Amino acid sequence: MDVLGRCALPSHLKDTQLSTPFTATILGAPRIGPNRELKRAVERYWAGRIDRAALEEIAAGLRRDTLSSLAQAGLDSVPVNTFSYYDQVLDTAVLLGALPARVRGVADDLDRYFAAARGTADIAPLEMTKWFDTNYHYLVPEIGPDTAFTLHPEKVLAELKEARTQGVSARPVIVGPLTFLALSKAVDGAGAPIERLGELLPLYADLLVRLAEAGASWVQFDEPVLVTDILDNGAELAEQAYSMLSGVAGRPAILVATYFGQLGAALPALARTQIDGVAVDFVAGADQPVSGLTDKLLVAGVVDGRNIWRTDLQAALSRLDALVGSAGAVAVSTSCSTLHVPYSLEPETDLDDALRSWLAFGAEKVREVATLATALQGGRDSVRAEFEASDRAAASRAQDPRLHNGDVRARLDAVLSGGISRGPAVERRKAQEARLNLPSLPTTTIGSFPQTVDIRKARAALVAGEIDEADYTDRMKAEVETVIRLQEDLGLDVLVHGEPERNDMVQYFAEQLDGFFATKNGWVQSYGSRCVRPPVLFGDVTRRQPMTVEWATYAQTLTDKPVKGMLTGPVTILAWSFVRDDQPLADSANQVALAIRDETVDLQSAGIAIIQVDEPALRELLPLRDADKAEYLAWAVAAFRLSTSGVSDDIQIHTHLCYSEFGEVIGAIADLDADVTSIEAARSHMEVLDDLNGIGFSNSVGPGVYDIHSPRVPTADEMVTSLRHALDAVPAERLWVNPDCGLKTRKTDEVTESLRNMVAAAVTVRG
Ligand code: GLN
Ligand code: ZN
Repeated sequence: MDVLGRCALPSHLKDTQLSTPFTATILGAPRIGPNRELKRAVERYWAGRIDRAALEEIAAGLRRDTLSSLAQAGLDSVPVNTFSYYDQVLDTAVLLGALPARVRGVADDLDRYFAAARGTADIAPLEMTKWFDTNYHYLVPEIGPDTAFTLHPEKVLAELKEARTQGVSARPVIVGPLTFLALSKAVDGAGAPIERLGELLPLYADLLVRLAEAGASWVQFDEPVLVTDILDNGAELAEQAYSMLSGVAGRPAILVATYFGQLGAALPALARTQIDGVAVDFVAGADQPVSGLTDKLLVAGVVDGRNIWRTDLQAALSRLDALVGSAGAVAVSTSCSTLHVPYSLEPETDLDDALRSWLAFGAEKVREVATLATALQGGRDSVRAEFEASDRAAASRAQDPRLHNGDVRARLDAVLSGGISRGPAVERRKAQEARLNLPSLPTTTIGSFPQTVDIRKARAALVAGEIDEADYTDRMKAEVETVIRLQEDLGLDVLVHGEPERNDMVQYFAEQLDGFFATKNGWVQSYGSRCVRPPVLFGDVTRRQPMTVEWATYAQTLTDKPVKGMLTGPVTILAWSFVRDDQPLADSANQVALAIRDETVDLQSAGIAIIQVDEPALRELLPLRDADKAEYLAWAVAAFRLSTSGVSDDIQIHTHLCYSEFGEVIGAIADLDADVTSIEAARSHMEVLDDLNGIGFSNSVGPGVYDIHSPRVPTADEMVTSLRHALDAVPAERLWVNPDCGLKTRKTDEVTESLRNMVAAAVTVRG
């Protein structure tokens, strides 16, 4: 494909001398603020409680603090423009004039930006996707026939100027053209966005010149798409694009930053261009071969930017030493932006000393980078103390008894050798039908009911010590009773207790399992103003005692209808935690699965006949390279089956999947062998059912009949239409009726009306 045919730019070949290299950097920094100041400010701005000037002042203060702390820690090249009010891909859409037409009517540019990010009463927002294997959601730009790219560099120029005024050696960071287009979606019948690379490159060329004029000596283009198989011809396109951009006269030095995996053929392709540096992730892509960089700066990502473990400095330095001959110069860096880890360990005062010594959050990672750079430049003696502390931490971690629990490992082996299959699906269906006696097209929900103001107040009061555990439990039980009564009134067939006691579906379990700890202030941006506080999985996992049995059995005492027990699956627990890096993820998954399995067995003993094990993150951990996917899916499926195969055949196992395109994992969904799978389908008009049929899936399925992400109450008629549509693909005896996802973010009124209509729709279709 000759995507560059349309652009003619001055070709100017640089001499091969290396641009002034730097020695220590990170690829990007978090922006939500050490205490989520930006989250709060943005949300107050949305609510009309502060004006734009006040928001901008808070943001400028956060940027100032970030720059000065990075420079003071010893980085001699500091990333700028990694600040964002919402998301860096959206910022890039603004930079390139690629916002969708429907927001163009919003007069104020900041409000237009937020309209694209989160919608307004009349404007639908852009979609969000987790493109890589992290929990960060990127906005998805829409490229249609009427998208006319134009350059709007005001934000990056302003942030560059700000940094230079502060005396910082600033390196603007911009999402590169390949990644921007590959992560965009075609709309209104347009061809694949990547076909428009030739139109975009002149804008990037122009931008390079503008940045040079504004004083930038280096510019970083982020091209993580090059570690994936999203583009068929990524290496070829990278060579074309960066040959062109590196030929621009009067440009700054160009660093192409890649992260989250190995570059493969894209590395030699980039090496053949006249760019000045390549950033390579040596944590995720540990054995990445490096060659052809003798005239370039290799920015070596040896400090893990997306996990929270302290770097083994000696091992990292050996790695750096080995790289020295393979490039013109080597700089030390984090493997990716530290956006994916919390700001600092400093607030984590509750951790024991050993645990604390094993960790490095954002600020600590920056110091590790600076220390390694000093050592690499020959200043090893001046950082001896840091190396010794790193050695002590590594030794302490290696011998800590919490990391190796012989009992758990032996039990796991024993259970695994007994097999992780249940009886044949048809036999299970018969046993379950006899036990449950459900109507055809049974109705149910995904688990959570609205987290009301009262629930959140009670949890805050418990944390603040204003009420005790018993008082809190009473309040939650009252909530369970309300939710059970509501479901009975609505006429649902399979009830849930509503999950009022859960702050978060992963943290709730992590807090009850040995081997995990929770942080006090370890917030990480998930999208926009939404932050999560992932637990840390550091040791072997054991369940201290039953975790959910009391809630499920209490709910069951309140009704004659079956109550569904509600658990989170092992893959999702891992995906939304920081995981240990000293053993394969599959081993950790099995340990978590064993704990969940024990819980299912206890639920069974307590008389619960239906148990749901949620795996909404199954798709998220899918490896970025096609060649690695099958192995992942095999262990992920095995972990799910380990967690669900300890119960008898008359226990009905449900699972729930959402938040993703299921195409690539459709076979794995069938292999989970759940008796009932509820799956997000409303927005994709039930297409997933054809996909499931395509692979011969023959268990029961509950395609979501309405989208819970919107406050709109769906009519019964619409849901009748969806159900009839679903019945084209799935016979009535295998079809369940349920919403798309949990209801915790909705208001009680919306939920009541929506479910009433849903039950009415099921009744109509049964008739
Ligand atoms: N059972 C969970 C709930 O209803 C599932 C949440 C999810 O899919 N993310 O909230
Ligand atoms: Zn869901």
